[in-house]
Amino acid sequence: MKILCIGRNYEDHAKELKNPLPAEPVVFSKPDSALLRNNDPFFIPDFANEFHHEIELVVKINRIGKSIAPQFANRYYEEVALGIDFTARDLQDALRAKGLPWEKCKAFDGSAVISKFVPKAKFKDMGNVNFRLDVNGQKQQVGNTSEMIFNIDQLISHVSKYFTLKIGDLIYTGTPAGVGPVKIGDRLQGFLEDEMLIDFLVK
Ligand code: ZN
Repeated sequence: MKILCIGRNYEDHAKELKNPLPAEPVVFSKPDSALLRNNDPFFIPDFANEFHHEIELVVKINRIGKSIAPQFANRYYEEVALGIDFTARDLQDALRAKGLPWEKCKAFDGSAVISKFVPKAKFKDMGNVNFRLDVNGQKQQVGNTSEMIFNIDQLISHVSKYFTLKIGDLIYTGTPAGVGPVKIGDRLQGFLEDEMLIDFLVK
């Protein structure tokens, strides 16, 4: 399976990092070795100084598809989850300054936290789903899928132009504002509507 991720998909987050709004989705990927499951702890790596949390809605692809039209994209996923796209922000800034790829700062082991999956049928409208991240019991990131610049169907359609989607592939759909560094001892809890799906410690 592969993990595709969308950058700068929420206006308020693009602005907080002083990035321009994208004219089309910004796409990068992570290997399957990046996955961090079962609320296992996140161990802060030693190759950078600032690791940021990015809470995101994650879509799991349930059938094979290529060049999917937006109006059919909703048939390509049945389940969603919450994820955290951990980012070594100081390393990302250094790589970007040199025009180098992002893998070292975004695709390292443990950088793709994933919760259990829930059926999308649970939600009345996937275009209006609330989610948030609490750090040590304080609201840190609050988002709603209606705030996406490119919605889920548009994202599935766009990435499938470039990459054949296969069963089990994951799409991280971008993060709202409020990203910030984690430190040893932090407790991160992610909520999809009222259900807590993520609850782990930083070590
Ligand atoms: Zn992200």
